[in-house]
Amino acid sequence: MSADSVVKSVFEQVLRRNPGEVEFHQAVKEVLESLKPVLEKNPQYVEKKLIERIVEPERVFMFRVPWQDDKGNYQVNRGFRVQFNSALGPYKGGLRFHPSVYLGIVKFLGFEQIFKNSLTGLMMGGGKGGSDFDPKGKSDDEVMRFCQSFMTELCKYIGPDTDVPAGDIGVGGREVGYMFGQYKRIRNEFTGVLTGKGLEWGGSLARTEATGYGLVYIMQEALKAVGKSFKGLEVSVSGSGNVAIYATQKVQQLGGKVITLSDSNGYIYDPDGINLDTVKQIKEVERKRIKEYVNIHKNAKYTEGCNGIWTVKCDVALPCATQNELDAEAANALVKNGCFAAGEGANMPTTPEGIDVFQKNKVLFIPGKAANAGGVAVSGLEMAQNSQRIPWTFEKTDSELQTIMVNIYKSISEAAQEYGCAGDFVAGANIAGFLKVAKAMTAHGLV
Ligand code: NDP
Repeated sequence: MSADSVVKSVFEQVLRRNPGEVEFHQAVKEVLESLKPVLEKNPQYVEKKLIERIVEPERVFMFRVPWQDDKGNYQVNRGFRVQFNSALGPYKGGLRFHPSVYLGIVKFLGFEQIFKNSLTGLMMGGGKGGSDFDPKGKSDDEVMRFCQSFMTELCKYIGPDTDVPAGDIGVGGREVGYMFGQYKRIRNEFTGVLTGKGLEWGGSLARTEATGYGLVYIMQEALKAVGKSFKGLEVSVSGSGNVAIYATQKVQQLGGKVITLSDSNGYIYDPDGINLDTVKQIKEVERKRIKEYVNIHKNAKYTEGCNGIWTVKCDVALPCATQNELDAEAANALVKNGCFAAGEGANMPTTPEGIDVFQKNKVLFIPGKAANAGGVAVSGLEMAQNSQRIPWTFEKTDSELQTIMVNIYKSISEAAQEYGCAGDFVAGANIAGFLKVAKAMTAHGLV
């Protein structure tokens, strides 16, 4: 059977077995398309049904999360954990709390995580989880009660050598704290079962900054390869959460100017460059909306709705909000305005049509699997520190992160080169991430 027909038949099976899970279909399709040259060169992977096995999660949990709001009303949400692939180590991947969460989103994220974790070079399998709970507008006590109920069920399936969740959209230090407290209480164990912990109780320095910093480190490496740097460049960032804030900070440290940020209501454009102290105060301390920014910075402009953000003229685009936020129309607008590089801080923020536009126009494009791997990489380093019971300095952790991001750039460039698609970092990331997992799965036999 040719690689082409294997991919076609496996993808048809994925569609049949996972009806309605459109984000999962999208993520699988992209990876399978990239793997065709690998399958041509390695017929043993076809014979051993590597592709059929890799698209099927090892285990999926879906559970009821009952909790009580401040008015005394009972509420019910749905919780998920997908343990996708453990060939390279314990399952590792974040928890997302957002009303849009359903099984298809968790599976897409878990599937991506397999290859991302492989690219970091650390020993981590792929998993993901979350809930359709919306932390927005909830009191601290409500968030705590929800997290405790969520962990009361989740704690049955995770552990420091089994599955180590972390944060994602809607899950930051506060939520990780409440979940860790409940795990410790039920299991009577103080272990590194979650990453993204507070610094006083097992967290790692530089974890908060890691995804955003890592994104900028890999983009810097990619720009270096074409004789450029962030110095003097105008950068458009979307989102205003953890990834967006620290990507902005690192771009500014490297001499670039970030001119936009957004949330799910709209975006701000500040021609003077974003003032990060103001953003941190609004988003991290007051937990308010990004539009508050223009009350303080009078040259800045707020526009309702998210789509227009990519019509702002910039040199580099860093989508850091959510999946499918940058489509073909947005990519065309960016290209037309002279944008020559894009890096995905979020997971799958660019639609397949958007990626097509970037690639046809020779925009230097680094996909999320590689570009946002810094977060999980430092989570891996947090696990190492927890096992050693010794915290590392910020400098040591940040320098390890830089090395990991430079190595990821190197391995995705080399894989693309080796498989005849030099400069295609989407294919490079999928191939390099896959090969390590495939070798481990082959060594483990039929599992
Ligand atoms: P946060 O919850 O801290 O921030 C998310 C940001 O994106 C917020 O500004 C949010 O706005 C915005 N956003 C969320 N959903 C939408 C939507 N449907 N439309 C427009 N904007 C939206 O999350 P993170 O910064 O942690 O995560 C951002 C992305 O990065 C996600 O794709 C995540 O999977 C990915 N990622 C995160 C990592 C991490 O370490 N945190 C690691 C690797 C990837 P609002 O407040 O209005 O909801």
